[in-house]
Amino acid sequence: MPLVRISHPKCSANFLVNLPHSADILCTECGFRIPVNDKMAPQVLTYLPCPLVCQARSVRAVVIKPTNGSFSSYKCGDDLHVGISDSSSAVYSFSGRGLLRETSGWDAILILYRFKMDSFDKLLAMYINSRGDRFTKNVYRESSLNCFDFIVQFFSFAKLGQFSKEEFTNRYVVRALQSALRYSTLAERVKTSGPIACARDFSGT
Ligand SMILES: [Zn+2]
Repeated sequence: MPLVRISHPKCSANFLVNLPHSADILCTECGFRIPVNDKMAPQVLTYLPCPLVCQARSVRAVVIKPTNGSFSSYKCGDDLHVGISDSSSAVYSFSGRGLLRETSGWDAILILYRFKMDSFDKLLAMYINSRGDRFTKNVYRESSLNCFDFIVQFFSFAKLGQFSKEEFTNRYVVRALQSALRYSTLAERVKTSGPIACARDFSGT
């Protein structure tokens, strides 16, 4: 559900709306009704940048999602699950079920890092073939050996840096998570209360 900012040209009031939005907005500034549709001129309708992407658009990346549910219901401190996507956007991750390759189930996710090297899939396959036995369901531990270990060990294997899980989180997770939560909270607020007035230059970031 994309979040957009609608500027009312008559009076320059601005509103945040989730699309699609079938009812008119009653402008709180001038009292006129503003019909809303996605064909509105770009100076009237601005899409707010959404930090969440679908699985198909997350190739060769470190990706993260809430372990349970989606970012729209995520609360600070809830568990997160992290994985690595290959060139066909299949996501490899380590959990209590062992090492998984998933071609679905990773929608509305955050990208933490994009890999830029050539032959990325080959490198990932080498990592899984040579180190996969370190990530079996028998050795999985919720906090001491989890999905983040699979990622930081890959960074080390690919010579992209040595990080502890805490360092990795501070460097790549915190800011991305904050922007996802800001967006989802706002989208939920607009969904619940309907269009809300905002500043003319509001960008959602
Ligand atoms: Zn108005």
